[in-house]
Amino acid sequence: MARISQHQLPHDEYHGVVIVGAGLSGLSAARILLEHDMQPLVLERESHAGGRCMTAVHNGGAYDMGAQFFTVRRPEFQHWTDAWIGAGAVREWTRGFPDISGISERASHPRYCGVAGMSALPDALAKGAQIRLNTSVKRISEGRACWLIDVENGTRIKADIVLLTPPLPAALRLISDENTWRMGALLLPLTGVEYVPCIAAAVALDGPSGLSAPGAIRVDGAVVAWLTDNQIKGISPDAPAVTAHASRAFSERHRDTPLDVVEKLLAEALARFLKSPITSLSAYRWDYGIPANTLQKNFYLVEGRAPLYFAGDAFCGGQIEGATLSGIAAGKAITERLRLSKNTAGRPVGG
Ligand SMILES: Cc1cc2nc3c(=O)[nH]c(=O)nc-3n(C[C@H](O)[C@H](O)[C@H](O)COP(=O)(O)OP(=O)(O)OC[C@H]3O[C@@H](n4cnc5c(N)ncnc54)[C@H](O)[C@@H]3O)c2cc1C
Repeated sequence: MARISQHQLPHDEYHGVVIVGAGLSGLSAARILLEHDMQPLVLERESHAGGRCMTAVHNGGAYDMGAQFFTVRRPEFQHWTDAWIGAGAVREWTRGFPDISGISERASHPRYCGVAGMSALPDALAKGAQIRLNTSVKRISEGRACWLIDVENGTRIKADIVLLTPPLPAALRLISDENTWRMGALLLPLTGVEYVPCIAAAVALDGPSGLSAPGAIRVDGAVVAWLTDNQIKGISPDAPAVTAHASRAFSERHRDTPLDVVEKLLAEALARFLKSPITSLSAYRWDYGIPANTLQKNFYLVEGRAPLYFAGDAFCGGQIEGATLSGIAAGKAITERLRLSKNTAGRPVGG
């Protein structure tokens, strides 16, 4: 579906729209473009899509390593959630979680999860999208009415429109020094969002964890903040598999500590919460875990020689819902822009 624009050179790879990042925001933007018959190229650094919404499998156990569940505040997101439920990808998990003393919070709004893990969300959004995995973008710089995207393997891709969806500090680092200087004040609002790191651990056990339904507790301790028994949650039927999230204080203190040291510290701290012995523990560091503050916008647009969009959980109130709605809003804005430019200029510029 990609069409050729006038500034394409014969040896360059060209795409009308390039989306950097196959997390929920990048994938939901791609979904909107696909629904309007436009095929963007999605570039993803990792070997899998999903970003901070991902399910890992280790030795037969399944672990949600980032987001554990999601909530719905806006009708538009309820619509998407209902569609995922209808497709069998998502279900209501619970209406509240107990704390470490076993006292449950008052039952309230639904907490949803993926039926086979949180990866169900990116899997549903990614259907039909052109995603290039293991493709880390190194730099983007303005060409003549286009963006030049340099990929770590040396490839250069041209695009009329770029959407950046990594956490904002990482997204801003991708913009060339010259463009950062030139765009200056336009980028300033994006520099105000800070992210809290989180160390997550996949913990295999010799037997039951001792947690009870719904299979997760808020610990809020000095080292451990959260525990999920993925077997009780229903995503790891064959093996006892616990996800642990370290506290903010621990994650910040151990930003640079070697992971094997972190794993020992976590194993010691976790033993008192778990009924069965730990057989293995594998830690993962989310440098940009959760935004500490968000912007009062659905997405952000910088108009340079070619448009540069930003979306993600720094917008729309954050979390799974905010990331998805931000991607949808950016996808709609890009779709509308392409439709208008096609109508007014009479020549295709993307899609
Ligand atoms: C430990 C943890 C627990 C959480 N718990 C919850 C929860 O229970 N409920 C909830 O609602 N939310 C939760 N969240 C937040 C939620 O996971 C995020 O808000 C959401 O997944 C963010 O999606 P995103 O698309 O904005 O960003 P991301 O998921 O970060 O997606 C960005 C993508 O860009 C890719 N990328 C980055 N740099 C490059 C590059 N240079 N080139 C190519 N690709 C690149 C990344 O690999 C990633 O796939 C949690 C997050 C963490 C870390």
